[in-house]
Amino acid sequence: MKILCIGRNYAEHAKEMKAETPTEPVFFMKPDTALLQNNSPFYYPKFSSDVHHEVEVVLRVCKNGKNIQKQFASKYYDEVTVGIDFTARDLQAACKAKGLPWEKAKGFDSSGVVGTMKSKEDYKDMSNLSFKLDINGKTVQEGNTKDVLFSFDTIIEYVSQFVTLRIGDLIYTGTPVGVGAVKVGDRLEAYLENEKLLDFEVK
Ligand code: MG
Repeated sequence: MKILCIGRNYAEHAKEMKAETPTEPVFFMKPDTALLQNNSPFYYPKFSSDVHHEVEVVLRVCKNGKNIQKQFASKYYDEVTVGIDFTARDLQAACKAKGLPWEKAKGFDSSGVVGTMKSKEDYKDMSNLSFKLDINGKTVQEGNTKDVLFSFDTIIEYVSQFVTLRIGDLIYTGTPVGVGAVKVGDRLEAYLENEKLLDFEVK
């Protein structure tokens, strides 16, 4: 499986990163070795001193597909949860400054944390899902999928022109405003529609 991630899908986050608001989806990938599941602890990596949390709604692909048309895109995912796109912001800034790829800042081991999957049938409207991240009991990021620049279906249509989607792939759909650093000892709890689906510690 692979992990596809959408960047800058919430305008207020693009602004806080001092990045342009994109006119088409921006995507990048994490390798399967980035996956961290089952509320396992995240071990703070030695190569960074500024690892940021990005809470995101995550979709699970349930059907193989290429060149998927938008009107059929919703048939290509069946489960949804919240996850964290951990980002070594210091390494990313250095890569950006030199125009280099971001992989070491975004694709490192355990950088793709994923919560308990839920059937998408449990939710009335995928384009109106609230989600949030609490750190040590305090809410640090709050978002709603109604604020995305590119809908889930648009993302699937766009990405599948370039990359074949396969069953089991995950799609991280972008983070809202409020990203920030984590530190050893933090407890991260992420919610979808007020239901806690992720709860883990930074060690
Ligand atoms: Mg992200």
